[in-house]
Amino acid sequence: MAQHNVVVAANRATIRFQSGPRRPPHESEPLEMESWLRLCLPQCGVKETLHHVLNHCAHLLNSGAYTWRHNSILQHMATHIHSKHPDSQIQIDLPGSTYQLPFHCDTAWRPDIVILHQDHSIDFVELTVPFEANLTAAHNRKTTKYGTLMQQAKTEGLIPRLFCIEMGSRGLPSKDWQSWLATFKHRKQLTKQCAAIALETSHVIWQHRATTWPNPPLFTLSDPSNVPRERL
Ligand SMILES: [Zn+2]
Repeated sequence: MAQHNVVVAANRATIRFQSGPRRPPHESEPLEMESWLRLCLPQCGVKETLHHVLNHCAHLLNSGAYTWRHNSILQHMATHIHSKHPDSQIQIDLPGSTYQLPFHCDTAWRPDIVILHQDHSIDFVELTVPFEANLTAAHNRKTTKYGTLMQQAKTEGLIPRLFCIEMGSRGLPSKDWQSWLATFKHRKQLTKQCAAIALETSHVIWQHRATTWPNPPLFTLSDPSNVPRERL
């Protein structure tokens, strides 16, 4: 994606979020407070920036909102992964699924997707949905996290590959996302759909930034074949 388009998309997303409905002022919050000074209250007490609300709010994190966004994207990816690897053993860490590593591992870390191929190669795929300014940091953190798992897979005689991929919370994919999807059929369509899910779910999170998280079912696109181009 051209840099110009990235900036246009990010600006459009910002306008969209900031034009969303606003909660009533908290009793400790002066009524005349300017929007850029608003605080994430009553939970966090820090500036209610887009960056904070979409990715770093402890209240939203603990309520499961960020996991809901992550799993909504993961669920959409699952269908494509199954169709691409019909002869492989696939584990996807989604609610209600039976997820089990195909070998014993001493660490508690489990990647979102495990694909065991018939030639004993094994792909570990970890999806992260960071703010776009943190795409590289998120990638490096996750790569380090799975070092032990990679070693353990090798001792089991497997040929492991680790793919830490990122879809920004405002729908901007990382270059590692693009690299991993390069082997997929219709990869541009899949990227566009997952980007739309990231943007839509982040918008829902923004709307619930100072209310009780409603724990909705995972988000699905009503018409995946008709995601408007302007979403990206
Ligand atoms: Zn907060």
